[in-house]
Amino acid sequence: MTDPFTEELDALRANSLHRRLRVMTNAADDAGAAVDLVVAGRLVNFSSNDYLGLANDPLLRDAAKAAIDRYGVGAGASRLVCGTRPIHAQLEERLAAFKRTEAALTFSSGYAAAWGALSALVDKHDVLILDKLAHACLVDAARASRALIRVFPHNALGKLEDHLTWARREHPHARIVVITEAVFSMDGDRAPLAEIVQLKNHHGALLLLDEAHAVGVLATHGRGLATELGLGREIDVHMGTLSKALGVSGGYLAGRRSLVELLINRARSFIFSTAPPPALAAAALAAVEFLESDAGERRRLALWQNIRLLASQLPPAPHGAKSIASSAIFPWIVGGEADAVEYSNRLAKAGFFAPAIRYPTVPRGSARLRLTVTARHQPESIHALGRALATLSRREPRD
Ligand SMILES: *Cc1c(COP(=O)(O)O)cnc(C)c1O
Repeated sequence: MTDPFTEELDALRANSLHRRLRVMTNAADDAGAAVDLVVAGRLVNFSSNDYLGLANDPLLRDAAKAAIDRYGVGAGASRLVCGTRPIHAQLEERLAAFKRTEAALTFSSGYAAAWGALSALVDKHDVLILDKLAHACLVDAARASRALIRVFPHNALGKLEDHLTWARREHPHARIVVITEAVFSMDGDRAPLAEIVQLKNHHGALLLLDEAHAVGVLATHGRGLATELGLGREIDVHMGTLSKALGVSGGYLAGRRSLVELLINRARSFIFSTAPPPALAAAALAAVEFLESDAGERRRLALWQNIRLLASQLPPAPHGAKSIASSAIFPWIVGGEADAVEYSNRLAKAGFFAPAIRYPTVPRGSARLRLTVTARHQPESIHALGRALATLSRREPRD
């Protein structure tokens, strides 16, 4: 029998869109942060979302170990059956306090949180209006919800307003939900939140804001973009993940108590999935407590020093680097998929890890190195990365 799968794989290879897994060993520094990776030699990692270096932090490790000793490993059932432990409730209370909302609910991933939100909030009579660059989990969840979907070009307020006007006129009784990100995952820029809030309020719509890359990074104690702009109360559904700056795994939604009660009753990815392991909830709780401490705020400010340093050291990319220091994410846009892979390989030879991000994660022809910086990078490494990229961009990618 012929292998039914190879044809598609060959097509991916032919288009430089084939991906493979790389097994990486962390090389932790003295404080336990994994800044370096070991992939065929030691590389300085500029691709992690562990912005504060918490994933390997002794505080989180100890919290997880203590929780394993107390609660075991698996939760044993879904949250609604018998999987809810005190640590889940504690984490949710703390997250609500952190986000300054009435309540919060955790999910096994940010991806699951997106599915939970949209499966609970809308059906085929409703309208979802998404930014074109919204994360794949939001796009997938939107499609699965069967709601009508409208997409506006990235951060294009005029088009968003057109969609809102249309939705209100054509579907006067529908629930309308605007969906965007605080910090965009592949571009590192921010949503014009004040203007979006004004528009959604004017048209009586709700706003779901995904703060995956803003929490831990923006605003005092890393409370995120909405807090930074004083708009926390205007956000109907706060979404985030425990797996980026918080260094653990899992997602959350936060807002009114009634929202969380509705989610508990309707969010399919919450209801039909085993509760997250208590040890992960314990580690995430330790991460939130750390963020709210003085040491946490110092760590966040150290991240910002590195963000500003990388912004000053990045040479222009072949397709123009947006080296605005608006988050820990710097897209270094190469353009062609094959060229981006080549840049990434050459960067690895120079001692740095930054994989090529290609379609379908970003649009075709805008393949890039997505460079991220963390609080744990040494300034010398950031300078050296800037020099390496400058050298590479002076050469033709495939000479
Ligand atoms: C990573 C990410 C998610 C998904 O979170 P996970 O916890 O990794 O499942 C959702 N939204 C955005 C913007 C992300 O970058």
